[in-house]
Amino acid sequence: MTQTVLIVEDEPKLAELLADYLRQAQYRIHIIDNGLEVVDWVKAERPDLVLLDVMLPGMDGLEICRELRTFSNVPVIMVTAKVEEIDRLIGLELGADDYVCKPFSPRELVIRVRNLLRRMGAGTQENSGDAPGRLRLNQDAISVQLGEQALSLTKIEFELLRVLSAHPGKIFSRDMLIDRIYSDHRIVSGRTIDSHIKKLRVKLERLNELAGVEKDWIVSIYGVGYKAER
Ligand code: CA
Repeated sequence: MTQTVLIVEDEPKLAELLADYLRQAQYRIHIIDNGLEVVDWVKAERPDLVLLDVMLPGMDGLEICRELRTFSNVPVIMVTAKVEEIDRLIGLELGADDYVCKPFSPRELVIRVRNLLRRMGAGTQENSGDAPGRLRLNQDAISVQLGEQALSLTKIEFELLRVLSAHPGKIFSRDMLIDRIYSDHRIVSGRTIDSHIKKLRVKLERLNELAGVEKDWIVSIYGVGYKAER
């Protein structure tokens, strides 16, 4: 079934370029260039994904995203022209699922669209099929359990998993994770977080294998940070 992607973008050339790439990837495309038209269109047409520019005439992307979330779980990718704005956008908790910064490679954006739709699709199947189980955190043992299986974690891995999974679907930047995990104001770089997350994901994969579960518990949002799957 062909999926529909709504492109909300007021730069016609960019909108057309994106539309070309996404059409080639077999998506149906609709373009809106004015913020005021978006909410009604989404209500009426129920697209499968929305690419939402932040700076728009009529109504800005932030406001649109908030309003969409009052009635829809449609995946939203926010597009901003300022890389330094991404942290602020995440902090606002608008309910967007991913963020990209201009200029971006259309090819990469297509990959992100596809991944996001796949993740959302996987979520629906899980709900209708066998329950995939839940991760259970054991604070005393500093371990994580899935079904009958358990694995020990390091303290940092445990804390990362605790913070992320306390807010499923919420994107945490590296700085946000550092703030929440290192209370002693040690100087920690984003790379340190990346490396702990990498090890944590290897352990969770191992746990999946042991428990016979297939699920990406932690998803990295390219250039932005991490989130736990819903
Ligand atoms: Ca714009």
